[in-house]
Amino acid sequence: MDTINVVNLKPYFGVQPSYHFMDIAVVNRFLLYKELYKRRGDPARAKPLTQKSFREQLAKEMVEFSGVPAAAPPRPPTPPPSLTCMPAYYGEDATTVRRYCRKCSDAGNRRVKTPVYCRKCQVPLCFTPKKNCYREWHDLLE
Ligand SMILES: [Zn+2]
Ligand SMILES: [Zn+2]
Repeated sequence: MDTINVVNLKPYFGVQPSYHFMDIAVVNRFLLYKELYKRRGDPARAKPLTQKSFREQLAKEMVEFSGVPAAAPPRPPTPPPSLTCMPAYYGEDATTVRRYCRKCSDAGNRRVKTPVYCRKCQVPLCFTPKKNCYREWHDLLE
C-alpha cells in the first residue's frame, strides 16, 4: 500500500521560531494589560490576572482566532472551467455552424465537418457515437 510516513514529515519543524515571537507578544500584551489595569482601577475585578492565567486566556483567544483557517485541509488547485477540455458546439445547435474536423483532416480525410470543438484546444473534432475524434485527439495529447 502507498502510505505516507507522517512521522518523517516533521510537521512542527517550521513552527519553532514563531513560538519565540509569540512569547514576546504575550509578555508585551501582559505588561500592557497590567498598565491599563493600574490606570483604570477596575472595581469589578478583585485583582488583576496573573501572567499565567492571562497566558491561558490569550492562548485560548489565539486558538479561537487562528484555529479555523489553520485546521482547514489544503485544497488542490482547481483550474478555471475555461481551461479544461470539453466539447462545445460552434453554433446554437448541431446544424448551424460546422467546421472541418482536425483529426479527420490530419488523417487525410479533409471533407468531414463537425459542429463540435474542444473549447480549450480550440480544435474542431467529430463527436458522435460512431466517430469520436474528440476522444482520439485527447488520447494522443496525453
Ligand atoms: Zn482539448
Ligand atoms: Zn473527425
